[in-house]
Amino acid sequence: MSCIFCKIIRHEAPAKIFYEDDDIIVFADINPRAKLHLLITPKLHCARIMDLPDNVTLKIFETVRIITKKLNLQDNFKLVLHNGALAGQIVEHLHFHYLSNQSAVDINYQDVVT
Ligand code: AMP
Ligand code: ZN
Repeated sequence: MSCIFCKIIRHEAPAKIFYEDDDIIVFADINPRAKLHLLITPKLHCARIMDLPDNVTLKIFETVRIITKKLNLQDNFKLVLHNGALAGQIVEHLHFHYLSNQSAVDINYQDVVT
């Protein structure tokens, strides 16, 4: 499959990975639009929120809370979903943008795949 996010999930394409478990991967956006710009991505390839199983949808929001706690950003982040090309979606593998403009976020990428 030629999906770039599936390649990142398989560690076949470079990425700065911040968090990963069986269902979800979180990595840095290659073209950040905030001081911190992460992409929270289900490992299951699907394009739209309506295609995502409920348990994985729930895991996305659990992951939001996990990374918020890790980064101490309880009061300063936003979450964005481009669901469909008309809404600005470019990569056809569902992902949530996690953005914060907090200065000096202390982030250590656990895995920099090159
Ligand atoms: P969208 O589909 O509009 O939600 O946006 C796709 C996002 O993926 C953009 O913010 C891109 O900068 C980002 N992106 C595209 N390719 C990569 C990549 N190889 N690694 C990290 N981020 C990427
Ligand atoms: Zn994919």
